[in-house]
Amino acid sequence: MIIVLKKDVTEAQIKHIVEKVKALGLRPMISKGAERSIIGVIGEEEILRSEPLEVFPGVEKVMPVLSPYKLVSREFKKENSVVDVSGIKIGGKKIVVMAGPCSVESKDLLIKIAVSVKKAGAVVLRGGAFKPRSSPYAFQGLGQEGLIYLKEASKKTGLKIVTEVMDTRDVPLVVKYADILQVGARNMQNFNLLKELGVAKKPVLLKRGMMSTVKEWLMSAEYILSNGNFNVILCERGIRTFEDYTRFTLDLSAVPVVKALSHLPVIVDPSHGVGKWGLVSAMSNAAIAAGADGLIVEVHPNPEEAKSDGLQSLLPENFAKMMFDLKKIAKAVGREI
Ligand code: PEP
Ligand code: MN
Repeated sequence: MIIVLKKDVTEAQIKHIVEKVKALGLRPMISKGAERSIIGVIGEEEILRSEPLEVFPGVEKVMPVLSPYKLVSREFKKENSVVDVSGIKIGGKKIVVMAGPCSVESKDLLIKIAVSVKKAGAVVLRGGAFKPRSSPYAFQGLGQEGLIYLKEASKKTGLKIVTEVMDTRDVPLVVKYADILQVGARNMQNFNLLKELGVAKKPVLLKRGMMSTVKEWLMSAEYILSNGNFNVILCERGIRTFEDYTRFTLDLSAVPVVKALSHLPVIVDPSHGVGKWGLVSAMSNAAIAAGADGLIVEVHPNPEEAKSDGLQSLLPENFAKMMFDLKKIAKAVGREI
């Protein structure tokens, strides 16, 4: 249920409504918009149906939310949400590009990559310290050592850090180093992790599960928002289809679909989506043309030796060229990089 408040609602009136909602055993979530403020009510909608909430001073109308996801829906919030990552705004006019290696491999290499992607226009450095590998025998990541290197690279370059957290037990550790906590495709429905990240409050990059529908993806985001964290960025990274020329099928139609259904920002990961470096630039262009708010791209100066995902990693010079070409697409759709 959504309680739409009047334009001139006072703080005292909001407090009064919030108290009433709480007294009914429901959870109020206030969202203050530029146009209008609303109170989302979480819990059993039936309880509210018999309550004359419309008579409360400050209330304009009370509406049921028809979608299964409530807080992430456009019904709940009409304007686009902008997630602030220590000053970098994701979901506004500016396209945000995150780039870096698949895995953090060594300090020197990471810093080298960070310097090159920053020069090309990236504002966030990616790199996995905890890696979700299909094989238990493959490189699993450097763990905390990798996080320390990410922090050093951030200090040197000013880039913000996005890195994956796979386990609820690691959340307090990763929170200390990362600016954005990445939930990988394989963990999109790890509901305990999602709840923990709701409480942690740091920005979360929620990747779409490779076998998940848009609805399931948004329901996962709802777990984070309903636990108190509205700083969620969605990331389309490709889904499994019968097509096997590419690693996954990058579902770019999900971008306008999610934009219509939700107020949350959405970015695209073309690297995992296609799995081949030669296709990354074309799909980045297409993602921005489709309305994505940003990209997350894998870059490595020596893909042959990369510990993971060398096949899909761009050389720094190809990344720089891609960034240059992207500027034209961004301009054509009224955005900037
Ligand atoms: C990654 O970003 O390196 C990664 C493992 O991504 P995904 O979860 O989308 O496979
Ligand atoms: Mn990868």
